[in-house]
Amino acid sequence: MGKADLHTHTNASDGDLSPEELLRKAQSKKLKVLAITDHDTIRGYLQAKELAPEYGIELISGAEITGIWGSREIHLLAYNFCDDDAPFREMLLNQRKARKLRMQAIVEVLNNQGLEIEYDEILAEANMGNVGRPHAAAILIKKGYVSGVAEAFIRYLSSEKIKGVQTEYASIQEVIRITKEAGGVISLAHPGRMYSEKEVTTLTGFGLDGLECIHPSHTYSMQRKFTALAKSGNLLITGGSDYHGTGKSEYDPYFGVVTIGDQYIESIKRTSENRKRIVNV
Ligand code: AMP
Ligand code: ZN
Ligand code: FE
Ligand code: FE
Repeated sequence: MGKADLHTHTNASDGDLSPEELLRKAQSKKLKVLAITDHDTIRGYLQAKELAPEYGIELISGAEITGIWGSREIHLLAYNFCDDDAPFREMLLNQRKARKLRMQAIVEVLNNQGLEIEYDEILAEANMGNVGRPHAAAILIKKGYVSGVAEAFIRYLSSEKIKGVQTEYASIQEVIRITKEAGGVISLAHPGRMYSEKEVTTLTGFGLDGLECIHPSHTYSMQRKFTALAKSGNLLITGGSDYHGTGKSEYDPYFGVVTIGDQYIESIKRTSENRKRIVNV
């Protein structure tokens, strides 16, 4: 039996490491299976796909996609989809645009509070990667407005603080449909972080395949609760470290530590392969 991590980020979104650096690190942690789940992009995954065999890593396609549910942004994890599926690729392109528009709106909110910060410098911080709030946090730190990422989120960037910002992200129903039509499976990311049990049930009712039962933000009792919920609802169990790089997030020390057994990967693949068969008929 080997270890799997199905939740990691690279510099294709808000992670620090390049896809190859992440593979090297995964190898050093003796991971057998890895999914790169950058925010709304598979660019990092596509780069790593070519290199993974050299590192003895089985890489499965992945992405952490933001879907809108009412006024909330929901993180959904897509796995094992056909990575050349045109509607899926198009969805990611739209999400990339939506991220840029959202960041422009966030900058306006910050400017209205008297902060001198420009959209272009945040975009430069993201480099070619999909822009997100951690890039804005980095600039706020550089300019001395806050002393760290946690403070940046508490004071300026939390969902509460950017509540009025409209976004053009896809709805969660669309994300679920398009991922499934690409032959992928879709799981609810870190359910313990922000939803009540009732909300989790409502969300899975939209057609989710799985629950991310294992995540560094989960206490042991949450882990057990979500695993029981997944089993009773016939849902896939997914999990991973949500690694973003070194010292960027409070979860970073858990890379190689918060993992799932690779037997769970078989169920994910089975569900996805059956779906591909049905989609292709
Ligand atoms: P965004 O993609 O713009 O919605 O930003 C989401 C990302 O911000 C998450 O994936 C984390 O990397 C980071 N993040 C969210 N909340 C916090 C927080 N309270 N402290 C530090 N980082 C956070
Ligand atoms: Zn992130
Ligand atoms: Fe997330
Ligand atoms: Fe994540």
